[in-house]
Amino acid sequence: MTNPLQVLNHIYGYPSFQGQQENIINHVLSGGSALVLMPTGGGKSICYQIPALLFDGLTIVVSPLIALMQDQVATLQELGISASYLSSALEVGENDKTIQKIRNKEIKILYVTPERLVNEWFINFLSRQKISLIAIDEAHCVSHWGHDFRPEYQKLQILGTVFSNVPRLALTATADHYTRVDIIHFLGLKTSPVFSTSFNRPNLYYMTQEKNNAKGQLLSFLNGRKHEAGIVYCNSRRRVDEITEFLQASGINAANYHAGLDNSLRANHQNKFLQSSSMVMVATVAFGLGIDKPDVRYVYHLDMPRSIDHFYQESGRAGRDTMPAISVVNYGFKEIFELSGMILAGESSDLKKRYELDKLKKIIAYCDSLNCRRQSLLTALGEESEPCGKCDICLSQDKNIYDGSVLAQKILSAIYRLQQKFSAGHVVDVLRGKASTAVQVWEHHKLSTFGIASEISEKELRRTIRQLYSYDLLDIDFTCGALKLNANSLPVLRGVKQVRLKKNPIYINRDITEKSIWLRTELEERLYHDLLNWRHKTAISHRVSHHAILSDRTLREIIENRPIDTFSMQSIYGVGEAKLRHFGNDVIAIVSSYQNL
Ligand code: ADP
Ligand code: ZN
Repeated sequence: MTNPLQVLNHIYGYPSFQGQQENIINHVLSGGSALVLMPTGGGKSICYQIPALLFDGLTIVVSPLIALMQDQVATLQELGISASYLSSALEVGENDKTIQKIRNKEIKILYVTPERLVNEWFINFLSRQKISLIAIDEAHCVSHWGHDFRPEYQKLQILGTVFSNVPRLALTATADHYTRVDIIHFLGLKTSPVFSTSFNRPNLYYMTQEKNNAKGQLLSFLNGRKHEAGIVYCNSRRRVDEITEFLQASGINAANYHAGLDNSLRANHQNKFLQSSSMVMVATVAFGLGIDKPDVRYVYHLDMPRSIDHFYQESGRAGRDTMPAISVVNYGFKEIFELSGMILAGESSDLKKRYELDKLKKIIAYCDSLNCRRQSLLTALGEESEPCGKCDICLSQDKNIYDGSVLAQKILSAIYRLQQKFSAGHVVDVLRGKASTAVQVWEHHKLSTFGIASEISEKELRRTIRQLYSYDLLDIDFTCGALKLNANSLPVLRGVKQVRLKKNPIYINRDITEKSIWLRTELEERLYHDLLNWRHKTAISHRVSHHAILSDRTLREIIENRPIDTFSMQSIYGVGEAKLRHFGNDVIAIVSSYQNL
């Protein structure tokens, strides 16, 4: 095979390139380096894998985690591509065999960790081999602004010197400006082009939910999804354990994952999850980078993520297979203070803390947004877009929005009278006319604003203050918790700016959470289950994950097109030559048994 499209058709079984893939591949084939910014599921891997197959020599792929490499290598091997990885977790003999294979030029694609790559012996060894391309996956790990900073990535700077004539392809799904600047600097890509694709994930459906009996809300969400795999993120290990136990006691197939678990137990839970299509993984965000499971159908943040970038990465773990998937954030006022507290207590410089608080503010604004969720997310990532028509905000069509100008004025004037020195709890007491000890000590019961919102519940006032913060109509000094006015407060106080607020719908809009049902008949459902069983058995005997055998989207096409011979089988999405050879007959036999029904 000599051209990229042929490889795509015959090896991968895909009909055409998507997005910028073809441009990137041609650029690399002509010897150029580049930075590739593409969302999760955008198809980054093919951008280096196809050149790797067309080049003579060896392609090195730098990847941060062994779990990621194992999965990629298994997927490539199922496609009939000679790929391998080096790992300290492998037995010494295994690594030696791989080294020998590299010497014999029997390997096309080699995955390594950055530590391994910059090891002196190894770099010496590689400099004597013919290296055609170096791909640096998850390149944002190079940046300390990023959420997955890995100091060893910065050592990759050496590649530009040792392999100055080898094209370098850095890939990431993080769009952040500062991260981008760091990648370009550390990986020596100043003169190389940047290929970037929209960060929109059209198959993800976004919604947020204010915390109101979090466990009950989670359970009601999960109840309709027992036959799906998904992730629930919590902000602490203790909470992960608590929620796992709660779900298990409620009859849900759940497992936990966090850094406090014993290594083997953690690996065991991860493997179970990778192999399952009907399981909840309750995890801290430590469970993240290492997973490459394409059929994650939802990511549910039971606690608020700490920035838009974290959120984008974490929610992005759903729906990599481009089939519909859901992102939910369950959030509340309390977490904002917890997260800001964590940021302020951290060891970073003041500059970085300010940067992180700014990031936190953006995720709060996303959660409280009155505009299309997708649009606010993309705006925060620096992209323009139209309302999506599919998120909770678009679907609720303003039903929950009301004019809250008067309430906003009351709150802002209370803050003003309190000389911008008091926290939300105290402001709420004054507004409600509650003569707490602190109120009496400060003689705030004598203020004109005392009791001016007595008819409104404490909870409602707190959520209104939170919304005003989200809409940038007031500030919070997180070092002491004091509420402050800002430049946008004045027009509201003067009555020249209207304030729109949102009521709190407790349960998620059913329209979006309704599962997309594509199995049209009972017959199709039976065929689907037969295919799932066969895939499960095959995956076990090949010791790979389900999707390395056939992806969900491929199964769906099989059901829709019912291939009963090799010819129709090879035109199915994701069926290349190796898959046709290995699995064609099995699938045709299963489909044929339904032919006369
Ligand atoms: P990323 O690394 O960007 O998250 P992947 O490289 O894992 O994404 O690709 C996501 C999915 O899309 C994979 O299942 C991959 O095989 C599939 N894919 C990639 N390119 C194409 C294409 N041109 N046509 C169809 N499917 C594709
Ligand atoms: Zn929308």
